[in-house]
Amino acid sequence: MRDNFLVFGSPQVGAEEIQEVEAVLRSRWLGTGPRVARFEADFAAFKGVKASQVAAVNSCTAALHISMIAAGLGPGDEVITTALTFCATVNAIIHAGATPVLADIDPLTMNIDPLAVEQRISPRTRAIVPVHFAGRPCAMEGLTALAERHHLKIIEDCAHAVEATYRGAPVGTLGNFGCFSFYVTKNVVTGEGGMIVARAPEEIERARVLALHGMSKDAWHRFGDAGFKHYQVVECGFKYNMMDLQAAIGIHQLARVEANWQRRREIWEGYEAAFAPLGVTTPPPLPEDARHGLHLYTLLIDERRAGITRDAFLDAMTARKIGVGVHYLAIPEHPYYQGRFGWRPEEYPNATRVGRQTVSLPLSPALTSQDVNDVIAAVTEIVGGRRWV
Ligand SMILES: *Cc1c(COP(=O)(O)O)cnc(C)c1O
Repeated sequence: MRDNFLVFGSPQVGAEEIQEVEAVLRSRWLGTGPRVARFEADFAAFKGVKASQVAAVNSCTAALHISMIAAGLGPGDEVITTALTFCATVNAIIHAGATPVLADIDPLTMNIDPLAVEQRISPRTRAIVPVHFAGRPCAMEGLTALAERHHLKIIEDCAHAVEATYRGAPVGTLGNFGCFSFYVTKNVVTGEGGMIVARAPEEIERARVLALHGMSKDAWHRFGDAGFKHYQVVECGFKYNMMDLQAAIGIHQLARVEANWQRRREIWEGYEAAFAPLGVTTPPPLPEDARHGLHLYTLLIDERRAGITRDAFLDAMTARKIGVGVHYLAIPEHPYYQGRFGWRPEEYPNATRVGRQTVSLPLSPALTSQDVNDVIAAVTEIVGGRRWV
């Protein structure tokens, strides 16, 4: 057994990030400034969009929130999203003043099912928020067709999918807005952080204003050395700007995004070969018309097949010093949403079943081959050798 605990989702941090953060501290320009501008430019280049089409913010939750406002969503509007996502996706809709409506997932891809979306469209529906779950791009063709037919906006939650592409186009550029997370467990990290990509110049402009107190765009020049600039408050915004301290990490994380993706693919293939023969469900094959972001490697633990419940499996992994995650208990399982919207898990059978069976295994590019072997040995022991259960 391992001596130390393998922390789930622990990021890879290189000497470049450490040096850049130190340089920021020594420069004494900690807040929004030149490194945020560079990170935005690098991210835009990575996504193949103009630098004026992106805005760095301090989380993906913030990105989702102000994208919805900039998309014109508010009270009385319904926004359809997936029943299997992190709570932030749903909370952002609520914070924007709109009403979330859930659609069930496709049980194989775990992504929102366009047929389920279609069934939920009402005269008040104004937007769809697809989540590229685990890094696998959603069936965007079906969603885009619905959006065109019903005049809906699409705000992509790309928190899992920074590297993903769909039929050659980067995710986040397929809808009106794309929202990215640089939270500590994500594929590119800044500690806390996020990015908005928007198609329409006036919409990204509005998002920028909203991200900094609602101050006119000239306010951003306060952060330069061009002398004092007056600013005007043009609406009631938020405090969602990214700091140079955060961007300093992101710049170097983004530079390694491809190498890290390749490393995760090796780990993914190792897991696939090891777990396919066991009594667990491994992720479906990688898509052919899309590039998977490889953010989460999930197993489904069905007690009847695996001989162990999901929760006992989580405990058994922890006992073997392997950190695991659950992404996610379905949204309708949570008491707040049940009380406020009357949602019931049985109305979303696919999301509910996945949420009750799923386990995420460590997939960080920082894993050593010994770590990977330890994960494989632990899973094999737990579901392959019942005597340990
Ligand atoms: C992590 C995550 C978020 C929130 O990201 P933050 O940067 O932590 O705000 C939103 N949606 C999904 C699907 C996520 O996994």
